[in-house]
Amino acid sequence: MSWDSVLGQRRAKRLIRAALGSGRVPHAWLFTGPEGIGKDAMAIETAKVLRCVAPLENGTVACGLCHGCTTTAALQNANVRFVFALPSGKSEDSRGDSPMMKLSDAEITLIQEQVAMKAADPYHNISIPRANQIKISSIREVKRDIGFVATESGWRIVIVSEAHQMGDEAANAFLKTLEEPSPRTLLMLTTSNRERMLPTILSRCQEIRFDLLTDDEITDALVARQGTERTPAGLVSKLAEGSFSRAVELLSGDLNGLRFDVVSFFRTALRRSPVALHAEIERLTASVDRVHIERMLTLLALWLRDVLVHRLTGSEAMIVNHDQIKDIQSFNTRFAHTPVDRMIAAVEQAVQAVRSNAQIPLVFTVLAMRLEEFCYQTPGLARVA
Ligand SMILES: [Zn+2]
Repeated sequence: MSWDSVLGQRRAKRLIRAALGSGRVPHAWLFTGPEGIGKDAMAIETAKVLRCVAPLENGTVACGLCHGCTTTAALQNANVRFVFALPSGKSEDSRGDSPMMKLSDAEITLIQEQVAMKAADPYHNISIPRANQIKISSIREVKRDIGFVATESGWRIVIVSEAHQMGDEAANAFLKTLEEPSPRTLLMLTTSNRERMLPTILSRCQEIRFDLLTDDEITDALVARQGTERTPAGLVSKLAEGSFSRAVELLSGDLNGLRFDVVSFFRTALRRSPVALHAEIERLTASVDRVHIERMLTLLALWLRDVLVHRLTGSEAMIVNHDQIKDIQSFNTRFAHTPVDRMIAAVEQAVQAVRSNAQIPLVFTVLAMRLEEFCYQTPGLARVA
């Protein structure tokens, strides 16, 4: 089924399909929400339905096979324009009539590559150096498209990706287009930065807020689409904050290095050697940023969660760190009575401390001490004050 190309987003799909099925497609939709959750993917799929020559299910599902569907998916349909930020050309003035005109051959090749990657994977974040603005010339092209009286029947569709990147001039030009709706024309704007959109543009679009993807949606998609193994897929889904493209990015980074560091820190914390701990914390926190540290702590919390799940259920099925099952088992044998829930809470407090800009080495020192204390305190014995 063609809508399956868009992960999750059941609410948004329902709204869009209802509009397509009833023939009450608005003049302009605005899809909002964080990066990598499928706003562009949804816009492209919606365009496919409108360009499909034989849509299914009362005109709400693209067939996926016809010329309209395949050219739209490839971002090469003459009636579907995909607009995104471009670098500005050498000595380009704002009147330049084609957005690509003054760019170098190398830049044009790079842009074509990026469009091809977007067509192959609508979750790809287009990345072009110096491309920080949607150009006024791109918006002029849109206006020309729409102003042109189509000789053939069918929808004309404009997708403006990350529409907040329109500069003032482009946004004002676009506003005119929004104010003068043309029949059988659909404008779809997507943005991960709604605050930067002009209120006048917001008020003329029908907004659909997109949801964060669930961990399961991300894990399943990584396994099915990228051929990722279940363990790393499950791990990055927990670090990706609901974004599929962030999960893909994390996978291409040094996930195993990060996991190794987590286990190493935890082991050192339990060795009860202040000197070794100091050296370990220096090593871990020397050159990495807060986001990296936060991910490391999240992985530690996940590992402890696995310990707890294993202890409570004895089952391996629900464990995320599946490849570390032996370590998890032996931890549970050796520290059968440790309050793992409180250890997880301690890690979560450390995450909060990192977020509120606490000194990172200090956060790790305090955390290591607390973890050690939880592991070695004897149950049932009154603590000596
Ligand atoms: Zn079709």
